[in-house]
Amino acid sequence: MKYGYVLLLALGLWQVPVLGNYWQQRVEYRMEVNMDEENHRFSGYQHLRYFNYSPDTLFKVYYHLYFNAFMPGSAMDIRSRQMPDPDRRIGSRIAALKTYEQGYQRIRGIRQNGQEVAWEVRGTIMEVILLEPLLPGMATVLEMDFEAQVPLQIRRCGRFNAEGIDYSMAQWYPKMAEYDEDGWHLDPYVSREFYGVWGSFDVKITIDSSYVVASTGYLKNPREVGHGYCQADKWKRKPGRDITWHFVADSIHDFAWAADPDYVHTHIQMPNGPLLRFFHVANDTFTDSWEKLPELTANGFNYLSTRFGKYPYGQYSVVQAGDGGMEYPMATFITGRRYLGSLFGVVMHEAAHSWYQLILGTNEARHHWMDEGFTNYAGNVTFHKVMYPNGKGNPHERSMASYLHAQAEFDILEPLCTHADHFVTNAGYGNAAYSKGELFLVQLEYVVGEAAFNRTMKDYFNKWGFRHPRPEDFLRIAENRSGLILDWFLEYWIHSTKHIDYAVVGLKRTQGKSYVVLERKGPMPMPVEVVVLSKTGDEYRYYVPLDLMQGSKGGMAGTAPAWMWVAPRYELEVAVPKHKIASVYLDFKGKVADIDPANDRLD
Ligand SMILES: [Zn+2]
Repeated sequence: MKYGYVLLLALGLWQVPVLGNYWQQRVEYRMEVNMDEENHRFSGYQHLRYFNYSPDTLFKVYYHLYFNAFMPGSAMDIRSRQMPDPDRRIGSRIAALKTYEQGYQRIRGIRQNGQEVAWEVRGTIMEVILLEPLLPGMATVLEMDFEAQVPLQIRRCGRFNAEGIDYSMAQWYPKMAEYDEDGWHLDPYVSREFYGVWGSFDVKITIDSSYVVASTGYLKNPREVGHGYCQADKWKRKPGRDITWHFVADSIHDFAWAADPDYVHTHIQMPNGPLLRFFHVANDTFTDSWEKLPELTANGFNYLSTRFGKYPYGQYSVVQAGDGGMEYPMATFITGRRYLGSLFGVVMHEAAHSWYQLILGTNEARHHWMDEGFTNYAGNVTFHKVMYPNGKGNPHERSMASYLHAQAEFDILEPLCTHADHFVTNAGYGNAAYSKGELFLVQLEYVVGEAAFNRTMKDYFNKWGFRHPRPEDFLRIAENRSGLILDWFLEYWIHSTKHIDYAVVGLKRTQGKSYVVLERKGPMPMPVEVVVLSKTGDEYRYYVPLDLMQGSKGGMAGTAPAWMWVAPRYELEVAVPKHKIASVYLDFKGKVADIDPANDRLD
């Protein structure tokens, strides 16, 4: 059944995404937009075929109107001004926007199967009352006429970003909200995370022919637009005359595009991978970065595909746009005035999001750590592999340091299961989603072992690609692959802020046997790996599984009886006589986030 599903998907015939008890909705968008570059507005027509694969009859549907966040008094504006540590890109900038600088999406009319329907807009959320209830297994057509004003760039999308890119068009269209087994997900947009419905997009953008458009999806009419999409194209550029760009894509859950007259557009075709496109505005200081970026990016895609599952689309675009780095299907918006290390670093992070969120479409508001944390893991490993092929250093060092620092110094930590929008501070969110999220995988690798971990990541991709996985879905795969029980790990690391602190507290000798005495000082239990160094310079390794695992990871020498999680102390019998032991240490460095490394060693 799984094979059939994948086959359908590969053939683009993905219509019935029902698998066992799992279901998900589907969208098929057709959109046409007309840019008015003078006023930074556009008019749009949207034809949406919406498939209800849920077991429920729907009487209403909801859309996100993200541009409405860029109006004084919006939820994003108030949230930003209330936070103790606001994102500096937002701050109180929304409150200061003049009418012509604000963003909005205004609905002119909505029809269901050709009949006018009623709607109501509340901030960034729009409710539409269906004329005909949508029964399980049925589809309906919703047509919409809308107008929008592109806000001055405040966060992610907008006009005139800090590097002078004219249009960064993310969150630009009325977007159907996701309905899943938990119901509707209608988070007012406060600048953080996204969750979208899987489906197809067919988008026609009409804009002055002087603009180069970079976009999600495949361009259908390269000969008409030129601009590096086809060979002989110089004659196509005629300011004052419009061109329509036509993009299509399937098996994605969002669509972004950017436009600027000064884009330099280059591309390389990877032999066993996607066509990589690059769009940037020439800047002498950073020419070298952008010249070297394509080859590094290709190496990165190769590694990501080999290690985490093959990139399934035929194209990926790196676009200078937006306000830092943000992932979209088949594309990223990044700021481009960066030296090579920084430029490639941000591209690898955003590219790794193609795996974590854009293919494995977790609800990133609820499970942000499966989005940012997993991406940090994959992006950092890949960056490291490509930049330092000889493997120096630990790619996860920064996340480890930043988590330990936050755990020790700040009162900002909240459990990772906190909804992304509802963290008290931005710092607390960042620490949870990015650092602690990355450490979830780093420590999982330690708990289950490298081989089981790598197989878990591949299985996760194959089983949950183009769907909406949850934490338990991932964990179940890790359990199957390792043969270990892991619910405790999720419970402690995700559902609490309990920390890890183990210590080597002494040596002991009774009845002719020698022991290393270990103590669990922190509340979170873990399996423990111990190294004993003898005075003659020999090294002895021991492994103490945790009883909650109901087993131990494979390939470990010196496996001792399991440590009961309820017991704070453990006496580990060792082969070296007490008087011959030079030192003992816990093999945690870079693998386990033990908050007090000082007591991990006894000399
Ligand atoms: Zn990210």
